[in-house]
Amino acid sequence: MKKAKIEHSLEDFLELNLFSNTKERLLEFIQTLLRKNCKPFFIFTPNAEQITLTFENPNFKRYLQQADLLIPDGFSLILASFLLSILGKSNRIKQRVAGIDLAQDLIKICEANNQDVLILGGRDYQLLTGSSSQIQNFVNLWKLSKNLFWTPISNDINYSDQKDENNIIRILNKVKPAVILVALGAPTQEKWSLEHKQLLSESGVKIVMVVGGAFDIILGRLKRAPLAMRRCGLEWLFRLVQEPWRWKRQLRLLKFWYYLLFKS
Ligand code: UDP
Repeated sequence: MKKAKIEHSLEDFLELNLFSNTKERLLEFIQTLLRKNCKPFFIFTPNAEQITLTFENPNFKRYLQQADLLIPDGFSLILASFLLSILGKSNRIKQRVAGIDLAQDLIKICEANNQDVLILGGRDYQLLTGSSSQIQNFVNLWKLSKNLFWTPISNDINYSDQKDENNIIRILNKVKPAVILVALGAPTQEKWSLEHKQLLSESGVKIVMVVGGAFDIILGRLKRAPLAMRRCGLEWLFRLVQEPWRWKRQLRLLKFWYYLLFKS
């Protein structure tokens, strides 16, 4: 089985190859990928917070470098690449591609192709979708909508054992998803995806994408920032108001700009 590649449309940004083209172009590529018989294609979704994490955690940087595609999931990255391009230090990244939008597009495309999608991780999604139903004879497997399945994996992925692994294998055999959306937060979700490459390949998965807490928003637990705030790059503020515990993590945004302006 071959590995699909998206060779053009990439720009080097702080030693990471970020996708730099339109979402429409990406969706065309994804459509052809879903029709092919190829090894799983890994999509990771760094934002400025995560790029800063690569400065502190070299393992995380290596995970990102192993992705088949890194989409620029944050306004700060677009602004930063624009500023670096003025200084002649980098090329400009064309457009932000938000992971939350791409995840929803993937579900729609799969529905049109009669393919299924499995969300791995996240919490209580069966409660957020009133019409959900648990799959009989399976531990922790729910059908959330027509072609969307969900399993929370375990309570703490860092302590998952062989029983959890066997459960995942059973679930993959049952659902046979074309797409897996891994919702465990960075860097756990990237680590989990890469560590399960072989299993995902054997299970016929075509696309593996990390989604963090995107389904907490899509399924209505949290609100998404209004378009005007997203366009001004203030999505982080909207999330902070809803989840004040994020303040510590969001300090990484300051570090990102500090690094970019004074160190790069
Ligand atoms: N999560 C999980 N199991 C874990 C740790 C996290 O299912 O062991 C889920 C958590 O419920 C949330 C998502 O992973 O839905 C992580 O979201 P986070 O807000 O960290 O990601 P972001 O959206 O900021 O990338």
